[in-house]
Amino acid sequence: MIDQKRILVTGGAGFIGSHLCSKLIREGNDVLCVDNLYTGRKKNISELLKNVNFEYLRHDITFPLFIEVDEIYNLACPASPIHYQNDPVQTTKVNVHGAINMLGLAKRIKAKIFQASTSEVYGDPTVHPQLESYAGNVNCIGPRSCYDEGKRCAETLFFDYRRQHGLNIKVARIFNTYGPNMHPNDGRVVSNFIIQALKGMPITIYGDGSQTRSFCYIDDLIEAITLLMATPNDVTGPMNIGNPDEFQILELAERITELTGSRSEVVFQPLPMDDPKQRRPDITLARQTLNWQPKIKLKEGLEKTIQYFDNLLSRPG
Ligand code: NAD
Ligand code: UDP
Ligand code: UDP
Repeated sequence: MIDQKRILVTGGAGFIGSHLCSKLIREGNDVLCVDNLYTGRKKNISELLKNVNFEYLRHDITFPLFIEVDEIYNLACPASPIHYQNDPVQTTKVNVHGAINMLGLAKRIKAKIFQASTSEVYGDPTVHPQLESYAGNVNCIGPRSCYDEGKRCAETLFFDYRRQHGLNIKVARIFNTYGPNMHPNDGRVVSNFIIQALKGMPITIYGDGSQTRSFCYIDDLIEAITLLMATPNDVTGPMNIGNPDEFQILELAERITELTGSRSEVVFQPLPMDDPKQRRPDITLARQTLNWQPKIKLKEGLEKTIQYFDNLLSRPG
C-alpha cells in the first residue's frame, strides 16, 4: 500500500497503547509497538501479533532507539500512582530520558511526534475546571512529583525541540481514562472498585470520597488523540482530552456497586499525600480544533469495563 504509514507506539502493550495500536492497525497502518512490559502485558497485544502489519519490540525507551517510521506516539510511562511511585527514579527517567530519545529519533527521521501528557501537570488545581493556560499547582518534592514533574519536563522538551529544531509535535493532556485492558492490579480507582465489587470485597475509598475526577471512556480518548495527530503542523497543543462529566469518588463507588449488583461495603482509608481534590477538563480547545467531544456516558463505559473484568476474573491467566 503506497500511503501506508509506519507508526511507532511506545507503551503500546499498556492500556491506552493497546487500544491505539488496534485502531492504527484497523486503519491499515504498519505499527511497531515498543514496550518493556513494566506495566504492560503481552496479552493486550496477543490478537494484534497475528497481523502481518504489527510488530512488537521489547525495549526500554530510556535507551536510544534507531528505527525508521513516519509517526511516533510516545505513551511509555507507568500511569497509576502505585506503579509510578514503585520506582520513582525510573519514572522520571522514562519521562525525561525517554522523551529526549524519542525526540532525538523524531528529529533524525523527521517524524511527527505525539506526547501523552496528563492532567497531573495541573497538580492539585486551584482553578476549576482546568484550562490549558492554567500553569498548575504542583509539589516538586512529593510522592507524585516523579510523574507530575517528569511529565511537565517532557512537555518542556517537546516545545524546546519544536522551537530549536522545528519538530512537528502534538501534546495531549489526558484526563482520567478507563476501559478494558486496564491492568487488574493497576490500583487506579475504576479498576480497583470494579474488582472489589465483583469479588464482594470492601470498596476502598481514600479520604472521605468527596474528591472529584472526570472519567473518559477509552474509545473517546483514542478518537481524540488520533484526530490531534492528524491536525496541521501549527496545531501543537497542549490540548486537554477528557470527559468533563465530573463525579465524586463516593458517587463512583455507588454507581459501580449498583451496576455490578454487589453487596460490597465501603471502607474509608487515608487519603494519599498530594491527592488532587478536584479535577475536570475544560475541553473547549479540543471541541473547536478537533470537532470532537466524548460520546460515551459513565454508565455505558462502566458497563463495558465491568464486562471486561468479569470475563477476566472468570478466566484468569
Ligand atoms: P499503562 O501503565 O497501562 O501503559 C504504559 C505502558 O508503558 C506499559 O505498557 C509499560 O510497560 C510501558 N512502559 C513503561 N516504561 C517503559 C519504558 N521505559 N520503555 C518502554 N515501555 C515502557 O498506562 P496507560 O494508562 O496506558 O498510560 C499510557 C500513557 O498515557 C502514559 O504515558 C500515561 O502517563 C498517560 N496517561 C494516562 C492516563 C490514564 O488515565 N490512563 C491519564 C493521563 C495520562
Ligand atoms: N536518539 C535515538 N534515536 C535516533 C536519534 C537519537 O534514540 O534515531 C537519541 C540519542 O541517543 C540522543 C537523543 O536521542 O541521546 C537526543 O538526540 P539529539 O539529536 O537531540 O541530541 P544529541 O544526539 O545531540 O545528544
Ligand atoms: N482512590 C480511591 N480508592 C482506590 C483508588 C483510588 O478512593 O482504591 C481515589 C484516589 O485517592 C483519587 C481518585 O480515587 O482521589 C483517583 O485515583 P486514581 O489512582 O485512579 O487516579 P489519579 O489520582 O491519578 O487521578
